[in-house]
Amino acid sequence: MSHIFPRHTKQVFPTAVRGEGCYLYDSQGKQYLDASGGAAVSCLGHGDVEIIEAVKAQLDSLAYAHTGFFTSEPAERLASLLIDHAPGDIDRVYLVSGGSEAMEAALKLARQYFVEKGEPKRGRVIARKQSYHGNTMGALSAGGNAWRREQFGPLLIDMSHIDPCYEYRLKHDGESLEDYGIRAANLLEEELLRVGPETVMAFAAEPVVGATAGALTAAPGYFKRIREICDKYGILLILDEVMCGMGRTGSLFACEQEGVSPDIVCVAKGLGAGYQPIGAMLCSKQIYGAIEAGSGFFQHGHTYLGHPTAAAAGVAVVNAILERNLIPRVQEQGEKLMTALADEFNQHPHIGDIRGRGLFQGIELVSDRDTKAPFDPSRKIAARTKSAAFDAGLICYPMSGTIDGRLGDHILLAPPFIIEDSQIDELVQKLSVAIDTALAT
Ligand code: PMP
Repeated sequence: MSHIFPRHTKQVFPTAVRGEGCYLYDSQGKQYLDASGGAAVSCLGHGDVEIIEAVKAQLDSLAYAHTGFFTSEPAERLASLLIDHAPGDIDRVYLVSGGSEAMEAALKLARQYFVEKGEPKRGRVIARKQSYHGNTMGALSAGGNAWRREQFGPLLIDMSHIDPCYEYRLKHDGESLEDYGIRAANLLEEELLRVGPETVMAFAAEPVVGATAGALTAAPGYFKRIREICDKYGILLILDEVMCGMGRTGSLFACEQEGVSPDIVCVAKGLGAGYQPIGAMLCSKQIYGAIEAGSGFFQHGHTYLGHPTAAAAGVAVVNAILERNLIPRVQEQGEKLMTALADEFNQHPHIGDIRGRGLFQGIELVSDRDTKAPFDPSRKIAARTKSAAFDAGLICYPMSGTIDGRLGDHILLAPPFIIEDSQIDELVQKLSVAIDTALAT
């Protein structure tokens, strides 16, 4: 009998025992192609000897030291490495254990920044529907996914949620993509004016939406306009790159491709690549400077901040991404994956949209391609596709999102950056069978 508290008490999962490259193996010897890197985590694949050795070496010298007393060499090295490659004015790093912690720290830092600056009325966050920022209370409040929030309503912080930039569902017929991008971004200004800009501290968004909408990229110009609006009203831009950062979309930070730099950016998942749990919240000189000139103390903290062993994994992973030239590889293999998905599914009557960037791609399943009508949620098409794929030895990430009452079924693909051409073929073939199986039930 298992004593683990599972996510779903009515499901029994196989026991994972080994990982090698793009594959995982269970205790029965069954092989699974890890086409989602878990949840966009395993960017280097499994069993990477260099990373394992770096973690072992760190454990041999110093496993842990509390940041209330010490800094450590791997934490300092990771912070410098991230800052060397970070966009714009980003200058300081706060090392945590995962994505929710990074977003939670971002929200508290934004608030403290305005308190220290003498603008204590600024406390509201504007975020987006169809977004996910984590499951802790602040991060969950920022997220716009109704299903995840539903029963926790009384515990959540009051935040605003505007429509995301969602070309497939929200662009008008005949409207250019650029015009749509500006219209979608202007929703931020409308909401600011509605709630009073002097009460707002930040806008939070994922540059490429992951866990609620299957690799939703923004229209060109969207984030530039968002940046302009943030600057006009003096609010901070918090970018959540927990899923889409660390090379996943074909640049180390996803926002590089939007031509904007944030005030705060969060990364996790790919930063530790699954070898250690680690996340980071990075902030600009301006924000850090205000705290430094004020109280000098960020009123926050966790026991495992700057964990040396986790940081050593982070250093090894970021170096591997850069030194093994994996970013150009993500672009190249990403194009091949997109082409293979398009070849297989472009004519499929129930695949409405194929989208994404780099090795971060998603497909949206619909009951009617012409009307874009979603499936009845009771059919659980995304969840059934996940199960059928798993049976066939393929790991993909299913999700159902809600936007203004319209439900959708999405499949997210985020394979390791080392995926080979033959494995792209295997992925698409198995996914195709899984979708047909799910549709037949
Ligand atoms: N932000 C985004 C964009 C995410 O995708 C996730 C995790 N799916 C999180 C935050 C939360 O990260 P974690 O699960 O590591 O707390």
